[in-house]
Amino acid sequence: MSAILVVGSVALDSVETPFGKVDDALGGSATYFSAAASVFAETKLVGVVGDDFPLERLDFLKRRGVDFAGVEVVQGNSFRWSGVYEYDLNTRRTLSTELGVFADFSPTVPAEYGAADWVFLGNIDPVLQHAVLDQVESPKFVACDTMDFWIEGARESLVKLLGRIDMLVVNDAEVRELSGEYNLLVAARWIQERGPRHVVVKKGEHGAVLFSGDSVFFAPGYPLEEIFDPTGAGDAFAGGMVGYLAYVNHANDEELRRAVVFGSALGSFACESFGPDRLAELDEDDVFERVAIFREMTRFEEMAPEGA
Ligand code: AMP
Repeated sequence: MSAILVVGSVALDSVETPFGKVDDALGGSATYFSAAASVFAETKLVGVVGDDFPLERLDFLKRRGVDFAGVEVVQGNSFRWSGVYEYDLNTRRTLSTELGVFADFSPTVPAEYGAADWVFLGNIDPVLQHAVLDQVESPKFVACDTMDFWIEGARESLVKLLGRIDMLVVNDAEVRELSGEYNLLVAARWIQERGPRHVVVKKGEHGAVLFSGDSVFFAPGYPLEEIFDPTGAGDAFAGGMVGYLAYVNHANDEELRRAVVFGSALGSFACESFGPDRLAELDEDDVFERVAIFREMTRFEEMAPEGA
C-alpha cells in the first residue's frame, strides 16, 4: 500500500434535499474524498480552513489515520457552499459558493508528502491544483476532478492541467461543458487528446463510465432503497477509486476497472446520510460486501450454443 495526497476543499455545507435539510454540515471535496479513500489507504490532506472551523468534526478522519499536517488554519471564514436538490437527485442547483480563506490560499505541500505516489486534485481552483502538482516529486498516478464553477471561471488553466494528469474524473454535465461535445464518447476522446489516458464520467445514480485508451467500461450505480443526500458522492467515488488503486498499488487496466466499481460502492455509501456520517462508520468489510453485490448484479452467462 502506498500513500495518497489529496488537495481540495474542506467546507461547511448547507444542503436541502426533498428528504431534509442541514446547515453548516461538514463537507468539501477533500473531506469526502478522504473519508472514502482512508478506508483503504494512507491519506494526506492539503487544504485550508478558517479560524471559525469546528476542527473536532474532523476527528473521525484523524482516527482513520488521515494526515492533516498539510491543512492550514488561517484567520477568516471557512469555505461555505450551499445547494438544493429537487426530486431528481441527479440535478443539483448551487445557491452560493463563498470561497472565504480559499480565495488567498497558496498551498504548501509538507516535505514528507512530496513523495506520494497517488495524487488526487480535488475540486478547487485549477491554479491551486497546478501549484500542488509543482510540489510533488514523481507521482505514479494523478487523478483530477473539477466542476462548472471552474470550467467557466478558470478554463485556460484547467485545459493546461489536462496535460499533466493521468485521469480526469467528472460528471456527464461537466465533461460536456468542458469539451463542448454532447456525445460522451466524443467528449471523452476530446479530453484524452489533451492529456489523460483515462477519463471517468460519473452519471449519478446511473453509475459511471471509464474511458481508458480505446476501451470503455461501465459500472452501474448501487440501487439504494433510501437516499438522503447525494452531496459528496462524486468525491467519495473518487476516494473509493483512488483508495483502491493505492491499496493494490497498481493502475493497470484490470485494476482500473475494479477501482471504478469500488468508486461506485463508496459513492453509494455517501448518499446514505447528510454529510459524511455514513462514510465515517465504514470499514473494509462493508465495502467488500457491497462490491460483491455489484459483481452479482452485473454477472450473466453467455447464451448456450444452438442445439446444446
Ligand atoms: P460532489 O457532490 O462530490 O460533487 O461534491 C460536493 C462538495 O464539493 C461539497 O461538500 C462542497 O463543499 C464542495 N464544493 C462545492 N463547490 C465547490 C467549489 N467551487 N470548489 C471546491 N469545492 C466545492
